Amino acid sequence: MNRHFSYLWLVLAVAVWNTLCFIVPDFFDSPSDGWKGVVTVVFYAAVLGIGQLAIATLLTLNRYVAAVCLPLYAIAGAAISYYRVAFHATLNPALIDATLHTNMGTVAGVVSWQIVVWVVLQAVVSLMWVRWRWRIGSVPYLWAVLLCAAGVFAAWYWGHERLHRSAAQRYPMHVIRSVSEYVSLQRSLNLPRQMPQVKPVHPADSLDIVMIIGEAARADHLSLNGYPRPTCPRLAARPNVISLPHIYSQHTHTAASVPHILTPADSLAPQKAHTSRSFIACLKQQGYSSAWISNQDYGRTYTSFIYEADTIIFPNASKTVFVFHPWYDLDLVTALQGLTECQDGPRRLYVLHAIGSHWFFNNHVPDECAHFRPVATNRVITQNDSAAIINSYDNTIVSTDLFVDSVISLFTGRNAIVFYLSDHGESLGENGNWLHAAGAEATKYPAALVWYSDKYAQRFPDKVAALKENRTKHYRTDYLFYSILSAAGMEAAGNSPSFDLFSPE
Ligand SMILES: [Zn+2]
Repeated sequence: MNRHFSYLWLVLAVAVWNTLCFIVPDFFDSPSDGWKGVVTVVFYAAVLGIGQLAIATLLTLNRYVAAVCLPLYAIAGAAISYYRVAFHATLNPALIDATLHTNMGTVAGVVSWQIVVWVVLQAVVSLMWVRWRWRIGSVPYLWAVLLCAAGVFAAWYWGHERLHRSAAQRYPMHVIRSVSEYVSLQRSLNLPRQMPQVKPVHPADSLDIVMIIGEAARADHLSLNGYPRPTCPRLAARPNVISLPHIYSQHTHTAASVPHILTPADSLAPQKAHTSRSFIACLKQQGYSSAWISNQDYGRTYTSFIYEADTIIFPNASKTVFVFHPWYDLDLVTALQGLTECQDGPRRLYVLHAIGSHWFFNNHVPDECAHFRPVATNRVITQNDSAAIINSYDNTIVSTDLFVDSVISLFTGRNAIVFYLSDHGESLGENGNWLHAAGAEATKYPAALVWYSDKYAQRFPDKVAALKENRTKHYRTDYLFYSILSAAGMEAAGNSPSFDLFSPE
């Protein structure tokens, strides 16, 4: 065989092997019912394999580069693919943060003989590739091949937005992206932010405040708001739950909406989402202990608010929305319960960031909440029956009902108030739109609730009376920042009745 062909075969062999070993495992837990689903998954893996072809070419062009890079690439790929399959864990900034703040004993606990065997096997195979490469000698038309491979890589990675999103989540690009995102998140923490002006009016001597940031729950799918299906069986039976059916969210995706909710940003001063600190810092200044417990990742736009909290917990740090494996908001309740038992200060704030109704819906619904069937069975939304998608979505609302009710049950005996506000709604087929972020009308009406304990009602009867009076009024999500401080007996500069659920006016 002449060396032209030998080199071609080598590149192909490396690319196919790496695709099978490092890319295909990402799809093992991917819901793909029926032959159409399987064809789609095979198609995705094949398109991602084109990137591996370009990378294999670049790594093998020079034999010295190949001798160093092929084994490193194989060993890192083996370790990452092992954790992806064994723990459904994928690399992301939250996992990097967790790893850097974990002691070595815990890290040693996830090293097993299976991973050692898998890494050694990959290292041996990579050395075979290196040997093969050394026999070939120099590559013919070196510069033409280099330009061609770089061009294919650039077109593959940057050529199409949807493909880019998927490619950025796969080996090796997700390693580069996660590390650079982690570094830029750490840098963003140093940017100056202004402290909102807050004055205590009738501050509570002891109070527990819980803020639950929901995900993609729309108000009109809550039975509390008249939806005909029983999606909120627990909250409907619980006293002191006030549902707010007329909340408007200008922003329809998490990254834009969450900073808007946490800060005094409003439609007249949207820049405060980027320049102001959040209510967490305000409540800390007034003597509250604080914790952020999250089932989502570190978003670039709200990481600085996460770091305002004294305690940060990510119970599912290794999950991203590209992992099609179950994880539940009830995990947040377990973490919250642990915290409430060990933190006994008089004033406590807990912020919970839920995964709620994020696609793939079934992954966030425990069996006991899967009331509506049949459910969606395919990760590609258009390959499901519309009714099945809505069944799956409504099951996420039942799941949120259980989650919020479980949070409330931890605080019934205390002076406490719980806020729930989804970051936005969700399109469920209206005008052919699904999910969120496209700015469709259905995504602008998030679910919102307030629950207060009996002790809170005794301590602040006027506030509770005003809340009941205001329940059907129309508010923008701007209300949250001002109302949470108002609930604690504090007034933020810029507050007005149009922001304050507890204002009698
Ligand atoms: Zn969201």
